[in-house]
Amino acid sequence: MNIMDIFISVLIPSFNEAENILPIYHALTKELSHRIARYEIIFIDDGSTDQTIEWIKELSYHHPEVKYVALTRNFGKESAMFAGLKHARGDAVIIMDADLQHPTSLIHSLIEGYEEGYDQVIAQRDRAGDSFVRSKLSSLYYAVLEKLVDVELKDGQGDFRLLSRRAVNAVLQISERNRFSKGLFSWIGFHQKVIKYDNTTRKAGVSKWSIKKLIDYGIEGVVSFNHKPLRICLYTGIATLLLSLLSISIMFVRILFNGIAVPGYFTTISSVLFLGGAQLVSLGVIGEYIGRIYVEAKQRPHYLIEQTNVGEDVIHVKEQ
Ligand code: UDP
Ligand code: MG
Repeated sequence: MNIMDIFISVLIPSFNEAENILPIYHALTKELSHRIARYEIIFIDDGSTDQTIEWIKELSYHHPEVKYVALTRNFGKESAMFAGLKHARGDAVIIMDADLQHPTSLIHSLIEGYEEGYDQVIAQRDRAGDSFVRSKLSSLYYAVLEKLVDVELKDGQGDFRLLSRRAVNAVLQISERNRFSKGLFSWIGFHQKVIKYDNTTRKAGVSKWSIKKLIDYGIEGVVSFNHKPLRICLYTGIATLLLSLLSISIMFVRILFNGIAVPGYFTTISSVLFLGGAQLVSLGVIGEYIGRIYVEAKQRPHYLIEQTNVGEDVIHVKEQ
């Protein structure tokens, strides 16, 4: 396919990114305008409380290729991306952050990958520039995740990637509410190509990830892709039960022969504590899954739209 024939959609989930809207628009235009004939840049305003939507609207007023989907409140990046994917009409869709941490210069390598026939072209970053603690915690997390999760997840492979129309349609078929896109992108499969790049720091504004959000996201990654944590609970439960049965029998036999010797303060307290802890952990894990079932059962929409200049009805579903 000639590069000129491709219709590219660039999706940018944006939450309080007012200072970044113009810079990312210019950086993208520089890369796209001379080489790609048809493209659209869709900003998804994820309930920003600053001037983000005003900047986007101003741009879209002058530049018809700029589209926006403004959500009614902050639904989180996952839902914002889902809204973007629903509204994108391109033959290929590129997802990137608003803060210029995803180099726009990679766009051509992404599109080249698409032309070579890949359905997903993934930009993988190294962790230079991340704080020491965050990068160490991330690698530890991915090491654990690799053991626990059934889909393949790699450190540094995030949402910055190109998806072909086929891949986008596949992702859209997955309607679960608790979305962990990295996992979903990996789950859909298709031919994938990885392009590496050096990490850059955020140009303006602050990261929207608090420690709590990161931990929540981490738990999401583990529990949304398998039931192994439940299985681990079951195994620890069985092991604790067998061990306590063993020690009870030993104690019983001892009492039969020696009579009651010591009051046994230590053993009582330690077993109560240990069992209490094991039970709480297990309950917590079960709760995680039940919580997800609850959220799915409610079948609420993933997001609500306040205003948009992309019609929901014009979703382009061209199969390749
Ligand atoms: N974002 C969003 N909704 C949120 C949080 C973040 O749409 O609730 C967007 C944000 O505007 C940015 C991207 O997701 O374009 C990545 O966010 P951020 O830069 O804060 O994450 P980090 O790079 O620190 O992982
Ligand atoms: Mg960022």
